[in-house]
Amino acid sequence: MLGGPYEDKVKDLLDRMTIEEKLGQLQQLTWTGDTGPGGGQTEEVERAARAGLLGSVLNLHGAAHTNTLQRMAVEESRLGIPLLFGFDVIHGFWTTFPIPLAQASSFDPAVVERDAEVSARETRSNGVRWTFSPMMDVTHEPRWGRIAESCGEDPYLNAVLAVAKVRGYQGDDLTADDKVAACAKHFVAYGGAEGGRDYNTVDVSEQRLRNLYLPPFRAAVDAGVATVMAAFNTVSGVPAHGNPHTMTGILKEEWGFDGVVVSDYTGVEELIAHGYAEDGADAARLALMAGLDMEMVSTNIAAHGKRLLADGRITEDRLDDAVARILRLKFALGLFDDPYTDESAAVDVPTPQAREAARQTAARSMVLMKNDGGVLPLDAGAGSIAVVGPFADHTDLHGTWAGPGCRRFPTVSILDAVRAAAPAAKVVHAGADVAQAVAAAESAEVTVVVIGEEPELSGEAAVRSDISLPDGQEELIAAVAATGKPFAVVLVNGRPLTIGNWLDSVPALLEAWHPGIEAGNAVADVLFGAVNPGGKLPVTFPRAVGQIPVYYNRESTGRPYDPAHDDEKYVSKYLDLADGPQFAFGHGLSYTTFATGEPQLDRQSVTVDELEHGECVEVRVDVTNTGELTGDEVVQLYVHDPVASIAQPVRRLRGFRRVTLEPGQTTQVRFTLGAEDLGFWTNDQAGHFTVEPGRIDLYAGTSSLAEARCTLTVG
Ligand code: BGC
Repeated sequence: MLGGPYEDKVKDLLDRMTIEEKLGQLQQLTWTGDTGPGGGQTEEVERAARAGLLGSVLNLHGAAHTNTLQRMAVEESRLGIPLLFGFDVIHGFWTTFPIPLAQASSFDPAVVERDAEVSARETRSNGVRWTFSPMMDVTHEPRWGRIAESCGEDPYLNAVLAVAKVRGYQGDDLTADDKVAACAKHFVAYGGAEGGRDYNTVDVSEQRLRNLYLPPFRAAVDAGVATVMAAFNTVSGVPAHGNPHTMTGILKEEWGFDGVVVSDYTGVEELIAHGYAEDGADAARLALMAGLDMEMVSTNIAAHGKRLLADGRITEDRLDDAVARILRLKFALGLFDDPYTDESAAVDVPTPQAREAARQTAARSMVLMKNDGGVLPLDAGAGSIAVVGPFADHTDLHGTWAGPGCRRFPTVSILDAVRAAAPAAKVVHAGADVAQAVAAAESAEVTVVVIGEEPELSGEAAVRSDISLPDGQEELIAAVAATGKPFAVVLVNGRPLTIGNWLDSVPALLEAWHPGIEAGNAVADVLFGAVNPGGKLPVTFPRAVGQIPVYYNRESTGRPYDPAHDDEKYVSKYLDLADGPQFAFGHGLSYTTFATGEPQLDRQSVTVDELEHGECVEVRVDVTNTGELTGDEVVQLYVHDPVASIAQPVRRLRGFRRVTLEPGQTTQVRFTLGAEDLGFWTNDQAGHFTVEPGRIDLYAGTSSLAEARCTLTVG
């Protein structure tokens, strides 16, 4: 945006603005009333808008409501600078798509981008031009409720999908009437909170910061993301909201980010509770001078900025830079030319196309974890089917951070969808009651048990110390299993759960996550085989809470566990738990089977110099559908650098492709690996990326446990 066609206009405005008006642009307030402006419930917002002392408003939507408030700013304030309306459109506005963790399971950037386009259209037509999405916090913590909002544990997957979402929301032209500004959040390392407790300490080495947490943000910035949100946590002792190293050093100077850095909700004020700022004025100074541009909800910069400036504790240059960034964004969004929203063109229901997209993505996001004895797919011609469990007829499977649509548009229940998909079958229903579920299972040819977590058990501040199935659901499974009749379990949840207590008793398990508005239809599509499942886990499923963190891209220890010597005591494992995950990152089955060949290289060696000059190595992997049904496989490519100046992860995902193959069909998937894929960041605070000579092992296959290997020499 920097140096865009509106630079003169930005300068002209800056020249005419008072200090108060400048500080006002840095302020975002929340709309807390149930009704729109004029309802008299948020006089503070209306007063500030009229006085030209407000830059942005969050939590107000609707073309008429936003227009009313906008008119106050544009027509009544001295300079008529328009307001920017922001909203948490995390996985849909009216049309709720699956939670982001589910979307990540699709390993399908094209559908993720398409869904962000749908969300952008609905959002923008309701007066909102800024979404606080995508969240791209890499995390190893299933206890953390916000894992539901993330794309899981892998930096590469998070980066690819972050870029897809930024493209979908923003497109090429932010003035288009179906696009919104995106927000890369939370900057940074929020997913590393100790113990998974929300907002908790994050003490992270520079190399881990750069290799694990920063890559998705870097990718989003390179893709042109308009805004970035600071994180609630500390980063190695310094709160992210007052952290000059991350906000200015890395984001703005090293990466050249020229958009807006917004605080999280009262994040500036929280610098006091962190024990980093003495009072509100100090918090304002620390945040602004560290590189923050806009304060959400708390009002420290606006309240104290004038005095801080007079005392020389903040600089006019920094203030002007922050204001200029905000004004530029408003110009880029076309707000100065057209600050209002066409009230007659508002999209106020999910369109059939949007619903279809939500259904498709939800089905593509589901992960077939286990399918012994071919219980799935179900036969739509079955005489009787029982659908049991607390979530069988649930109509709120939207998941955490669902948009306004979740209050107006219930999800299609799994029970209703099974009835529709198997019209000739007698469908019996029972809820959470064990005896009734058993009776239903005994009366039916096959049973679908729908279990999981309520949406409010994941999301912000929804942290669990025990991530097994809540509320006696394990007993329900045991009782249904004891009937000896065939059944399949559908899990609806916002995080990986510990499922080891009952997994062996279950013939088939489908991970559906919180699938959104079309939940039931999408689950039925997969259960009956209209859609052959092809999703993969974007996170490791732990065997027990005590094993957390457990993730695939760990570093090797000096005493790695070797299953060939499992009587070995002095290795990195637990005495009382089998080693390895319950289910590995990248795992996911299909109703057909696939075989992948050895990875083949177009050259056996490459030099550091060639890589640094942009040369790439091509890796080809053959994949064949060896089964009887058309289906999808996600071919995954992992790299490992066995000897490096910083101990490297045992594997790192560096490529994936989801392909659809007919029975017997083979296709060749090609990946390219360049310096970015083969090198790593060192511990240097100034940012040093290195590619070192030596051997690189490449693994290709259908999960992070892939065994097919070849070797590349970097000379
Ligand atoms: C969350 C952000 C969100 C903001 C505004 C905060 O509590 O951490 O992710 O965008 O609220 O609603």
